[in-house]
Amino acid sequence: MEAHPCPKCNEPMDEGSLTTSDQPGYVSKRQTGMLRTVTKISLARACPNCGYVEIYLDPKELKSRIS
Ligand SMILES: [Zn+2]
Repeated sequence: MEAHPCPKCNEPMDEGSLTTSDQPGYVSKRQTGMLRTVTKISLARACPNCGYVEIYLDPKELKSRIS
């Protein structure tokens, strides 16, 4: 399995996803049209040592919306 060390303390991170009542998403400020399609945040990693959380969306999806 690919190791993902924490960028803050270098401990191995745990992988999961954000859970909210709605699917978490991202909208760029560069998306200025009337219809702003949300890019879904599909992956999250949390550090069990320091509590740092990082979240990821699909970069190809985002690029297609801001280019
Ligand atoms: Zn950490």
